[in-house]
Amino acid sequence: MLPVRHGDGAQDLNALLRVGARDVIVDLSHPVSLARELDFHRAQPQHFGAPAATSQPYRTPGFSGSVATGASCNCEVISVIPHCNGTHTESAGHLTREPLDAERVVPSGLLPALLLSVVPVAASDVSETSDLAAQTAFAPQALIIRSARAPTLPYLSRDAAQAIVQHGIEHLVVDLPSLDREHDEGRLTAHRVFFGLAPGDSSLQQVRRPAATVTELALIPESLTDGPCLLELQIPAWRGDAVPSRPLLYALLEPAVGLPQTGQPESRRDRRNCGAIGGNPGGIGGIAEQSAGSGASPKRSLAHRSVAQAERRQMGLAETVLRG
Ligand SMILES: [Zn+2]
Repeated sequence: MLPVRHGDGAQDLNALLRVGARDVIVDLSHPVSLARELDFHRAQPQHFGAPAATSQPYRTPGFSGSVATGASCNCEVISVIPHCNGTHTESAGHLTREPLDAERVVPSGLLPALLLSVVPVAASDVSETSDLAAQTAFAPQALIIRSARAPTLPYLSRDAAQAIVQHGIEHLVVDLPSLDREHDEGRLTAHRVFFGLAPGDSSLQQVRRPAATVTELALIPESLTDGPCLLELQIPAWRGDAVPSRPLLYALLEPAVGLPQTGQPESRRDRRNCGAIGGNPGGIGGIAEQSAGSGASPKRSLAHRSVAQAERRQMGLAETVLRG
């Protein structure tokens, strides 16, 4: 087998970026793909009872579509249902009569993002509130939710979806097949809240958040640590309300030590904590304080901060964002 580069970009390519009022150093060499690999010839996601995605040689008279059977080159016909067969990104067009192509909505380039792990809880065990912790110094546009395993498929509660909207999140990435319950009689409550579409409405004109996107069926490695990061949503230039996607997560490196930070005066704490995209933890991300006594700053560090259980509880969202 030939060695092939998989995942990593050019080596030692780091960038100093200004995100809002903060300078951060981003590791551009090692983006982490949050996409599931789709192997057409093995087990694959088939949510909502969908058929498997397929890939077959394109056959015409005189051409078998496969080098293995005598053709001059390989050429496949692919059949896929983006919503059901793998990682995909969708727009509000998922719910409207008029088309809204995800391709038109998905922003190019890097997005300030936040990775957050949550623990599903039984719907009967929570009375939802949107009582989140107050302020966050950094304003992520994208939220990546990694859900712990649960006996049944978790989904977002209405309150959680509302809280996410209230915190200005435009792009939501989840490792679930859907924001909503698999069978919810077509209500798609969390989708509607997130895209800003009232129950029963199906006109594009009625969509209040047409720039929002949802990415489902992502695969979020355990190795990633909760915290601020940058996200890039990569998609093909296909029409449709949903397209296969490859979300790339870029970790933040050391703080831009020694570099003047714009905005707030730099403090020692900012430096030590990397302050990555924001010094002051809290808010939706519940970005926790730097764990005490962690003298050695790990390098590729989403890990500059650890989200303590107590802080998680305090912020509400983490505990109740998903219902099993
Ligand atoms: Zn979908």
